[in-house]
Amino acid sequence: MKSLPYFCRGEVIRGFGRGSKELGIPTANFPDSVVDNLPADIGTGIYYGWACVGNGDVYKMVMSIGWNPYYKNTKKSMETHVIHTFKEDFYGEILSVVLVGYIRPERSYNSLEALIAAINSDIEEAKVTLELPEHLKLRDDNFFTSAPSSSSALSSNTASTSQTIINGH
Ligand code: ADP
Ligand code: MG
Repeated sequence: MKSLPYFCRGEVIRGFGRGSKELGIPTANFPDSVVDNLPADIGTGIYYGWACVGNGDVYKMVMSIGWNPYYKNTKKSMETHVIHTFKEDFYGEILSVVLVGYIRPERSYNSLEALIAAINSDIEEAKVTLELPEHLKLRDDNFFTSAPSSSSALSSNTASTSQTIINGH
């Protein structure tokens, strides 16, 4: 995938109420403005990378890029699970992410247990792979230290609550 690493950020919006949090794996959703900017070669599937909320610390993440049920599965959605336990929800805050690598395609599972096991193995793979020196470098990228702390800061210079930087430029 030539577009990786792929940097983007946007406001955290309410998701589809699939109850990810009840599974112990909350996923923060991006608005359409962020999803619409995805390069064509970043297809659906599970990705790993780095994420930060507002001006907070940078943590490992796994992201599912899938089909959005609101648009009859014709449009992509991006859902990020940050590998960190937060004290509170962060709806309305700016989530900054870099997609670093691809783990696997999307698939359906026969049971909730099988789904949770698959996600937990994605999380383990992300944790290990992101320790590679070339991936640790991205955690320290200026992109994260320059993160706007609020959506108003973002919209004042981009007119929409999203920002995309391809390969760091
Ligand atoms: P929704 O359907 O609204 O996306 P979820 O059950 O997927 O609901 O929960 C997602 C929300 O949980 C996020 O928008 C965020 O505010 C909060 N949250 C708390 N911890 C995390 C985390 N580690 N990763 C992602 N989101 C988290
Ligand atoms: Mg969600």
